[in-house]
Amino acid sequence: MTNELNTLTLADMRDGLKAKKFSSVELTEAHLKAIEKNNPHYNSYITITRDIATKMAKDADARLASGSQGLIEGVPVAVKDLFCTKGVLTTAASHILDGFKPQYESTVTTQCWEQGGVMLGKTNLDEFAMGSANLTSYYGTVKSPWMKDGQPLVPGGSSGGSASAVASFLAPTALGTDTGGSIRQPASFCGIVGIKPTYGRCSRWGIVAFASSLDQAGPITRTVRDSAIMLNVMCGHDAKDSTSSSEAVPDFEKALTGNVKGKKIGIPKEYRPDGMNPEILAMWDKGIQLLRDAGAEIVDISLPHTKYALATYYIVAPAECSSNLARYDGVRFGLRVGAEEGLTAMYEKTRAAGFGKEVKRRIMIGTYVLSAGYYDAYYKKAQKVRWLIADDFNKAFEKVDAILTPTAPSAAFGFDYKPNDPVEMYLNDVFTVPTSLAGLPGISIPGGLNKDGLPLGLQLIGKSFDEATVLNVAYALEQAIGFNAKPQGVLGMAA
Ligand code: GLN
Repeated sequence: MTNELNTLTLADMRDGLKAKKFSSVELTEAHLKAIEKNNPHYNSYITITRDIATKMAKDADARLASGSQGLIEGVPVAVKDLFCTKGVLTTAASHILDGFKPQYESTVTTQCWEQGGVMLGKTNLDEFAMGSANLTSYYGTVKSPWMKDGQPLVPGGSSGGSASAVASFLAPTALGTDTGGSIRQPASFCGIVGIKPTYGRCSRWGIVAFASSLDQAGPITRTVRDSAIMLNVMCGHDAKDSTSSSEAVPDFEKALTGNVKGKKIGIPKEYRPDGMNPEILAMWDKGIQLLRDAGAEIVDISLPHTKYALATYYIVAPAECSSNLARYDGVRFGLRVGAEEGLTAMYEKTRAAGFGKEVKRRIMIGTYVLSAGYYDAYYKKAQKVRWLIADDFNKAFEKVDAILTPTAPSAAFGFDYKPNDPVEMYLNDVFTVPTSLAGLPGISIPGGLNKDGLPLGLQLIGKSFDEATVLNVAYALEQAIGFNAKPQGVLGMAA
């Protein structure tokens, strides 16, 4: 039996708290009980912060009683374990951060707590957010509540713990980060909503860095409205992040009119590669038709450099990762191995023991493409192609208001999926990385089910800083699609 409090939308939780239908302590307790009961199965949380949650919920109830309230007063929030949380274990799902308790709180989580959010815990992810299936976490794999033939599936990645927690009602929202698709692809695999805002919309301060020119925070939720509410909380300028934007933040919830009459929606022909899964194509075509029926104008567009996006991303992201991860050497953070053998031995042994295989692969690729002799051929060239990709979007956005594509090339897969070559896993990001390279906002919403009863995601991409249009078109499409399928593997909430 599911506890009905857990299955409410975030908007209904917010409104119910305000109307005193239930308290934040009740709502938080319902979630904590469900997490404590079901997390051994899903493994979506690395750390459960029961005591902090209970205290925050009591404080929120006091504020609700006195009439002063934040945007999400009393609402439980899960946090991807890539955000630094003061005094609370922050792992990035890596062995190398063993025991790391930051002395400060990230800006985005600070904003959540200032607006009344209640921290449930820290969610699992691919190590240092590198991956597409949550298979590289030092803290073990995560199960999605969706199943195929009675077998568990991966939740996608890297924000897999966040997506699984939201889809299995262990949180109404979870913070994620998206460098090349890590919010949108797990949202697609788990049949929920995830938005990556424009690069610079949310502060990166206090988020463990992977690829600094691409990393963006964003929410994972069960509805578009809930994502709009969370963006209202998370966005805004931060003097502590020099890449954070001072662009005004509109009220994203107010933007949800559902009216898309006359809006021009671009359909890029390059997102229909040969051999594309016909079920994905059919879902995409249905989305196009629904927008047309709602009065939008469908416009064919071309993004000619799309085919270079994946290769470009897998040069730029590892290059930045190799530089960002140089700081983990046994001196300042977490794990330290071999200190008695001298400094060089300590560096080598700590990094050899602390990083997993995928992270080591990225560091090696990144170091290679940045090395003298290869820099021009790889890194510099990738930077140039990156701007060609961004320019494709600039040109397209002279003609259209938003772009509709699939989010991922497949539905979620099982734990028996063992690619022979890491590039096979990288292909999961083929539809999400162009947006990341161009720094644009992108959202994934459930588009429908495939023949196995698994969700497939639709992606809407918008102009720089025009999340309002992205959210509104997504909202209109969400209403038209009426997706209400529930995962086969949701466990009961109550003890
Ligand atoms: N799957 C991509 C990668 O492995 C994207 C990760 C992300 O967005 N953090 O790099």
